[in-house]
Amino acid sequence: MGSRYDLTREGLATVLDDEPRYRADQVWEALYQRGAEPAEMTNLPQALRRHLAEHPDFRPALELAHQSISDGGETAKWLWRLADGREVETVLMHYPGRSTVCVSSQAGCAMACSFCATGQAGFDRNLSTGEIVEQAVHARRAAAEAGRRLSNVVFMGMGEPLANYDRTWEAVERIHGDLGLSARHITVSTVGVVPGIRRLAQEALPVTLAVSLHAANDDLREQLVPLNRRYPLAEVEAACAEYLAAGGRRMSIEWALIDGVNDRYSDAAELAAIARRLGAHVNLIPLNRTPGFPTLGTAAEDVRTFRGWLTALDVNATVRRNRGNDIDAACGQLRATVGSGRRTIPVRALSD
Ligand code: SAH
Repeated sequence: MGSRYDLTREGLATVLDDEPRYRADQVWEALYQRGAEPAEMTNLPQALRRHLAEHPDFRPALELAHQSISDGGETAKWLWRLADGREVETVLMHYPGRSTVCVSSQAGCAMACSFCATGQAGFDRNLSTGEIVEQAVHARRAAAEAGRRLSNVVFMGMGEPLANYDRTWEAVERIHGDLGLSARHITVSTVGVVPGIRRLAQEALPVTLAVSLHAANDDLREQLVPLNRRYPLAEVEAACAEYLAAGGRRMSIEWALIDGVNDRYSDAAELAAIARRLGAHVNLIPLNRTPGFPTLGTAAEDVRTFRGWLTALDVNATVRRNRGNDIDAACGQLRATVGSGRRTIPVRALSD
């Protein structure tokens, strides 16, 4: 099924039939620079606006089903209904000096990481390029309306982006070329899909790579991340080294700290060895609660201790600020629900 952000420029020209070429440029500009609806494309004749509004290939891919707000308005989570009734989520986070949107690349996820709510719920389908891009466009417009500028896009929502490689990459190119974000401000996060990391290394755009490691020995990693049986740590590390060798690229290691599981000194030492070999920055995320995983996140004080061990072992590590926990918008909590029900705004009320 097509949608407006699935169209290429040639596809848009077809939708516009016999219109002169500059019309396609105007529509493209309205879509990507302003995230405009046909009715808002006031530089077009009214008949053309109506033509676009009614054209099946120009419909939006995402219908807002629910919006949740947290952190005093600095975090927003959107639940979208897709044309086939499937649902995905997007999270927009404002920080001093930057605004980051976390986009989904699949409805559900097949990677089945035990501690992740998306993985617990299973896989529905890949998102199309347009379904991914439209999330970023919506975020950019919402940021602009709040007087902010969307500066970063992270592929850290629902799904495994490198298991949906072609559409993800096309979305990256649109976000870079048409939304105008710099490549290093676009982060593709993977649980370790080795062939995908190798393909990324061949691409011209030096996006930032995030690798969700969580364990730095194969025994523990196999328990947390089933994909490790297919692509063990040594292969993941070799692919990351290849990625960095391609030049101009940065990477980080993501580590969800789980109480008593991967937060001991020995874990820090194993992690530090890999991080040092790759020159990678480490992001520590205290594990967020999910319905299917009983073990708790590491307590704040022990998170600081773990970070201190890494620093002493010559590794740069930051603790991720926990955004949107109360609306189930934090890392690993996305499963296309409206959250706990607190502080959520039914879409109906938004227009009141
Ligand atoms: N599949 C990709 C993209 C999803 S990113 C990947 O795994 O990288 C989502 C991030 O949140 C990943 O780093 C993931 O490991 C992390 N995460 C998943 N569940 C979590 C949880 N319960 N608490 C904290 N982080 C979690």
